[in-house]
Amino acid sequence: MSQDQSKIPQATAKRLPLYYRFLQNLYASGKQRVSSQELSEAVKVDSATIRRDFSYFGALGKKGYGYNVKYLLSFFRKTLDQDELTKVTLIGVGNLGTAFLHYNFMKNNNTQITIAFDVDEEKIGKEVGGVPIYHLDELEERLPEDVTVAILTVPANVAQMITDRLVTKGIKGILNFTPARLNVPNHIRIHHIDLSVELQALAYFLKNYPQE
Ligand code: ATP
Repeated sequence: MSQDQSKIPQATAKRLPLYYRFLQNLYASGKQRVSSQELSEAVKVDSATIRRDFSYFGALGKKGYGYNVKYLLSFFRKTLDQDELTKVTLIGVGNLGTAFLHYNFMKNNNTQITIAFDVDEEKIGKEVGGVPIYHLDELEERLPEDVTVAILTVPANVAQMITDRLVTKGIKGILNFTPARLNVPNHIRIHHIDLSVELQALAYFLKNYPQE
């Protein structure tokens, strides 16, 4: 992101990809404008928050007209650096890793898994979803300098050891799908997604705080 976006609050920044995806769909369906109310219903963020978020970019809804979809879209594309590809490595081509390689985030044209690693001889040397799989022993030698993000879908007990190697190799961000809590230097960003905890939390909320 460019410098003037550094003022955008993190909570707002996290919603940008959500807005962006929805606006792309709107644009594809030929819609030229959208109100904050419509956006709100589609992305499930209240419209006051949307208006506040958009005001950080100086965008510019008009009363009774809404936002111009094409303008917003080009604005978001620049803001999210959609034209700049972030290359990603995936470590651990198990069930979850395999699903990610097949999916490969094709709808975000700014992120792409380009190389994967595992230790299972059955998987090494093969491709899944067009992505080559190498032995983890070759991580240091094979991982290209321009790969800045890693997705971890390995067993939890090896996650820290792999993280240390990724950090030494210069990775900037890690999307951690293992339940392990990882120690990293301050300049590395980790996003932690524990699917089973999320699912349990959802089930708990449904039981204890049923919605009307
Ligand atoms: P998932 O958790 O994705 O459903 P799974 O149940 O198929 O996977 P796991 O045992 O969790 O299998 O392992 C995930 C993948 O991580 C496997 O492909 C396994 O070979 C790989 N793996 C295990 N240890 C390592 C390691 N040290 N480095 C890299 N990959 C590893």
